[in-house]
Amino acid sequence: MNKTDEYSLYVHIPFCKARCGYCAFSSCTDFSLVKSYFEKLFGEADRYSDKTRPIRTLYVGGGTPSSLSTRYIDALFCKLRDCFDMSRTCEINFECNPESTSDELLDCLADNGVTRLSFGLQSVNDATLKAIGRLHTYGEFLSALERALLRGFADVNADLIIGLPEEQSQFIRSVKTVAKLPLTHVSMYALELHPETPLWKRFNGKSPASDDEMADMYDEALLILREKGFIRYEISNFAQAGRECKHNLNYWREGRYFALGASASGFVENVRFTNARDIRDYLSLPLERLRDGSCEEVTLAEQAKEFVMLGLRLVSGVSLSEFAERFGRTFCDYFPSAKRLNKLGLLLFDGDNVRVPDDKFYVSNSIVAELWSDVD
Ligand code: SF4
Repeated sequence: MNKTDEYSLYVHIPFCKARCGYCAFSSCTDFSLVKSYFEKLFGEADRYSDKTRPIRTLYVGGGTPSSLSTRYIDALFCKLRDCFDMSRTCEINFECNPESTSDELLDCLADNGVTRLSFGLQSVNDATLKAIGRLHTYGEFLSALERALLRGFADVNADLIIGLPEEQSQFIRSVKTVAKLPLTHVSMYALELHPETPLWKRFNGKSPASDDEMADMYDEALLILREKGFIRYEISNFAQAGRECKHNLNYWREGRYFALGASASGFVENVRFTNARDIRDYLSLPLERLRDGSCEEVTLAEQAKEFVMLGLRLVSGVSLSEFAERFGRTFCDYFPSAKRLNKLGLLLFDGDNVRVPDDKFYVSNSIVAELWSDVD
């Protein structure tokens, strides 16, 4: 099956009990909007219902999906099963924050066939968690994890953030602690400061850690995780063998995906779109205008560029045979600079794959820019 025939589905739940100090996602704390949000979301699901393309993976993200009452979660899964072909779905992801992962929620997720939980942990240091506005403690995360494992959830991820306002040694303590837990996946993202967030104001827009410090912390974390069997498969993602997140792999392999909810982006056939970002706009716009101004047909040349940009984030890189099949030309024919980059040791040809060498990931952006200049 061609990657463009495989569909994923993303559903955005934009509600959080409180806003974290660094958050720039589409989320709000007004739970009085939940009812009208679900009415709109279900209207959107009806409008874009598609039973002809089986959904391989589903991701319910946010926001904080675990902050919803189980009544809404049951209704959501029921609606998705009505509107999409979920008969061949092999991975169902659900994002949880530790403080709202109740036993009732875990039972509800298990009953609805959720296969993979992703916890927003960020740090194991309670003082750091408090300083960035998280509502949970490390102890609450451990309790949620233990109860999730007892219920049989086999795939569990924890997110960590590099570059929080804490000592480097505290970040390393987080990585060492998490690496010893029975998790199958760890995501590790660099802190990004966005204007108008409390952390931006606190640090005048300057990251608490310098680029060099970030790089040192990343390199040390990589070794710690590797020692415990977590294999890096994407710049920010580490998994035990065979436990990569299939949903995210579909994004990086430039697969196709439906999307529902405020700020959600989709890629259906060759059209990309993003729904109204602000929850109040999402609620007030008529269904037919939710994607106004954002739908764009992605040309084959743009797809080739994206395919390479996303694929080179993966440690395995880009499949040469898939590239030729999708774009009708060989990779080196499309991107003549590839040969020069290869001579410079910045791109490796490895069997059917072309990839960025492990120690050159930090310059991947400039490698991609060089390749892209062949097409512009
Ligand atoms: S839980 Fe996530 S989405 Fe909600 S405020 Fe915090 S960072 Fe933002």
